Amino acid sequence: MSLPLPRLDLGTLEGYHSPQLDVSVRLNTNESPYAPPQEFVDAWLGALREVPLNRYPDRAALELRSGLGASLEQPPERVFAANGSNEVLQTLLLTYAGPGRSALVFEPTYALHAHIARITATEVVTAERTADFTVSPTEAGVVIAAERPAVVMLCSPNNPTGTVESRATVASLLAAVIDHGPGLLVVDEAYGEFADDSALELVADDVPLVVVRTYSKVWSLAALRLGFAVGPPSVIAELEKTVLPYHLSAATQLAGREALRFHSQMRGRVDTLVAERHRLSAALARLPGLTVHPSGANFVLVQVDGDGHALWQRLVERGILVRDFSRWPRLANCLRITVGTPEEDDALLTALREALTEAAA
Ligand code: PMP
Repeated sequence: MSLPLPRLDLGTLEGYHSPQLDVSVRLNTNESPYAPPQEFVDAWLGALREVPLNRYPDRAALELRSGLGASLEQPPERVFAANGSNEVLQTLLLTYAGPGRSALVFEPTYALHAHIARITATEVVTAERTADFTVSPTEAGVVIAAERPAVVMLCSPNNPTGTVESRATVASLLAAVIDHGPGLLVVDEAYGEFADDSALELVADDVPLVVVRTYSKVWSLAALRLGFAVGPPSVIAELEKTVLPYHLSAATQLAGREALRFHSQMRGRVDTLVAERHRLSAALARLPGLTVHPSGANFVLVQVDGDGHALWQRLVERGILVRDFSRWPRLANCLRITVGTPEEDDALLTALREALTEAAA
């Protein structure tokens, strides 16, 4: 018997790797360290009991979109919701990129951008971020003019570097996309709530800009898989055509709606995590041999003056898992640390002190 080969253009594609190990402190996947409020869980489960499970969910997810839109001061027609922002990104690329079209990414950045592009048979065009990991508007303008990508993916705050792009940079990229279009600027703000700057205010009905966000981090709901896009109604309508019908379960829609009623608790969690990020970054910067990159997210990238992978291993031996980027292009010896609870972060700092001393011995 012989089994069929997958699409030839997928031949060299590797699956997404984010190693999971059984450790006591997991600071490797940028989840919230806090469970969502119990009142939210109770309200959601209570409402779920009333859902007619024999019926398909609301295909247009209208109540969720209206509620989300209202919370962002946007009309529901500008909101598209899907199973995590990854599905939002995939739908965007399926709709606006694909065979014969290209997507521009600024490396180093979130690996799934290029990965989803390849899955959707989109050509990936790569531009480099500058030494401080920001995007140079001038260089980006040159690449956009030369390549005319169908989609420009800008991750801000950028994963894994934490870099936040200024409003001026986003505006400049948008101008380049408009000048050399037709194209779409997609700003991935999966960590947007942890930063001071957002592109949301630039969204308008006639501007080729889509901002993507998620419930996974800030709403402590990674398990649920809910993400959304805010963009021009005509773009949102196109996404609705491409995505599978009834893709968003009633349970997910309901959770997204109920969560909005707990906005102040969620905001409190963001403020706590941002304060903790400042504390953690300062403590890391005081350790010998570590360079801490500025972050506007719920994680911090550190560069180890020495063998980053060996340090990662030493942390694992002490029950602490962070994300090892030490063998990535441009990120030699870098580790990404998710901001945890103060107790988790203290455990990390203690383990790091020990591991660094051991490495220096
Ligand atoms: N964008 C970025 C930049 C991310 O880091 C992540 C999660 N790691 C996602 C999108 C996807 O998040 P989700 O699908 O959970 O919404």
